[in-house]
Amino acid sequence: MISTKSKHKHTQRFGMKMEPQLNIIFLPYPTPGHMIPMVDSARLFARHGASSTIITTQANASTFQKAIDSDFEAGYSIRIHVIPFPASQVGLPEGVENMKDGNSLEIMGKIGRGIHMLRDQIELLFHDLNADCLVTDMLYPWTVDSAEKLGIPRLYFYSSSYFSNCASYSVRTHRPHDGLESDTSKFLIPDLPHKTEMTALQLAEWIRTKNNSTAQFFDAVFESEKRSYGAVYNSFHDLENEYEEHYKNIMGIKVWSIGPVAAWINSTNKGQKHDHVEELEPKWLKWLNSKKIGSVLYVSFGSLTRLPNAQVAEIAHGLENSGHDFIWVIRKRENNDDDNDGDSFLHDFEVRMRESNQGYIIWNWAPQLLILEHSSIGGIVTHCGWNSILESLSFGLPMITWPMFAEQFYNEKLLVDMLKISVAIGVKENKLWVSLGEEDVVKRDMITNAVKVLMGSGEESMEMRKRAKKLGDVGKRAIEEGGTSYNNLIRLIQELKSLKVSRELSKRKLEN
Ligand code: UDP
Repeated sequence: MISTKSKHKHTQRFGMKMEPQLNIIFLPYPTPGHMIPMVDSARLFARHGASSTIITTQANASTFQKAIDSDFEAGYSIRIHVIPFPASQVGLPEGVENMKDGNSLEIMGKIGRGIHMLRDQIELLFHDLNADCLVTDMLYPWTVDSAEKLGIPRLYFYSSSYFSNCASYSVRTHRPHDGLESDTSKFLIPDLPHKTEMTALQLAEWIRTKNNSTAQFFDAVFESEKRSYGAVYNSFHDLENEYEEHYKNIMGIKVWSIGPVAAWINSTNKGQKHDHVEELEPKWLKWLNSKKIGSVLYVSFGSLTRLPNAQVAEIAHGLENSGHDFIWVIRKRENNDDDNDGDSFLHDFEVRMRESNQGYIIWNWAPQLLILEHSSIGGIVTHCGWNSILESLSFGLPMITWPMFAEQFYNEKLLVDMLKISVAIGVKENKLWVSLGEEDVVKRDMITNAVKVLMGSGEESMEMRKRAKKLGDVGKRAIEEGGTSYNNLIRLIQELKSLKVSRELSKRKLEN
């Protein structure tokens, strides 16, 4: 089913003198950190003359349908192709199709199974939609074979930093963490342009241990990366150029940095931001409007993490004790034995913060981009998800790093040690939020101290602020006409068009 009336140039015939219309299919993985940057990229491709089709399921489509409709109305060739999610077959209620809706490992597993079941249907679509190129999430390794069968390029879409991928590649290849005295002993990550140390505990569990099914899955992912025509990165040259270069060398594939995509797609007034709010002045905006420039800390742990009540309570005390203003988005954890205690604590805390006017709580989902762009925001506490990092950087904001899982500890190294725009809260262990226990709770004093350093007026904070602002400005230039990311996107589109021309020519030769 095609959900947007097609104003496509399907009928535009490919001729020798005509610019070929590029038909690009985007296949996002349904978790916000992967889906948002891919949808932004699909929109950017369409703005630059390609025809973009995003394949996804209904509930996922509804989260960005408005933006696509508004691009379409503005004359761009973009649409969503909706496929049904097999909810009942995997035992999920209708509408639970995105990892952010999974409040337990069991539900997330079912969502994953549902996505896996769509493979055959998607492969048929690649064929029927007459794709010239597939831009697919890293988590669909099989799409490299689909592209090969169709004789078209597959572009591997990675939604984190070059640095994290290079570091992870080195750790997987050399396994410097094996045979160390303890999980907390430091080791050097080999072959990187900078000296970078980590501990085994900071690595994702599937890398720490050997021969597990997750590692096998990721082997397929990384093998498909090397076999892809190239990779698209939501990063920009001057942010991590040495790692962009290093990546090309180790992977031996082409790569295009086209980020920061959120800042780019939202920098034009045509079309819609992915954070659209209906109300003219929602409460959180009124609250931010009442605050001084650069005085408020935004606290968020991304789209997936739901912290245990004991940790939420420490954060609450830590923030309150810092004396600085904050706006904090809390994702509710359900089915907790101690839910009632947690709820009443948070309720009292929210009331107290409202009275003192020190803090504002947003439940479950925040319009993050709109908040970050507000002039009262002066810094952010982040779990080091790459999108949140780029979004903060785009507004020149320094950060407090609180990594949780996956590649987030590598991103922390980039922010704290290399770019020097962040204060580390001091988390020691890489753990999925569902596994966090009492022993993992970061204590209130650590939180208060980090907040005071970042939001205070000491030299360290001023220097971080200056550097973050400078990087934000460099990022803005990258996406302007003539900037590095801008040029990369144009060059990529041109290259894909040339490939299409060669393909058509060889097809004709064969036919004659
Ligand atoms: N996000 C948001 N509101 C929220 C939480 C997250 O808009 O309350 C968006 C955020 O702006 C970013 C994405 O969701 O674009 C999260 O991606 P990130 O890579 O930062 O972390 P992940 O959620 O994948 O861990």
